Amino acid sequence: MNYWNFVQKIMSKNYICGHCGNDINSNEGYYITSNGSTSNGAGYIYICHHCNKPTYFGIGEQIPGPIYGKKFDEEIFEDNLIYSLYNEAQKCMKVNAYTSVGMCCRKLLMHIAVNCGAEENKNFTEYVNYLDENNYVPTNCKNWVDIIRTKGNEANHEIVLLNKNDAEQLINFIQMIIAVVYEMPYQAKKYSGEE
Ligand SMILES: [Zn+2]
Repeated sequence: MNYWNFVQKIMSKNYICGHCGNDINSNEGYYITSNGSTSNGAGYIYICHHCNKPTYFGIGEQIPGPIYGKKFDEEIFEDNLIYSLYNEAQKCMKVNAYTSVGMCCRKLLMHIAVNCGAEENKNFTEYVNYLDENNYVPTNCKNWVDIIRTKGNEANHEIVLLNKNDAEQLINFIQMIIAVVYEMPYQAKKYSGEE
């Protein structure tokens, strides 16, 4: 088994590992010191006991940041591009690249709409409308349609930076659409023995 050399017992910390997504408690890693023997609280590196990868904690920061959003099985997607783009959006989230999350989510929605039968070469708003009008957006989520039209457009057309909350909400919406369009039909097929 591989392990990190000279790793030390340090103050236990609970965090979501940005590499594997597990919610863990670790008390193994390294610390910054100014006297050579004790931590001065300026920084720690924790080692995840699930994936064995390190995460740096400075004052008020975690690098890589936690994985945001559900992890989907690759096998639910007929189209690998959707899986890759969704993962890319999650990676952007980990490095606080919120406007880039918006751009990925925008591409995702357009691509999902085409997968669902929309014509190619339409604009973003038309694709969101297509998903809405063809009932891929559930009734109780209709109030999301306007929000997504606005935020998705901002990410591409105007010089407006998206913030963390915008990015999280876009991922929440995409996650719901992916569950409706790919995950639920896949599970139904599997459950009824077709796959
Ligand atoms: Zn991990």
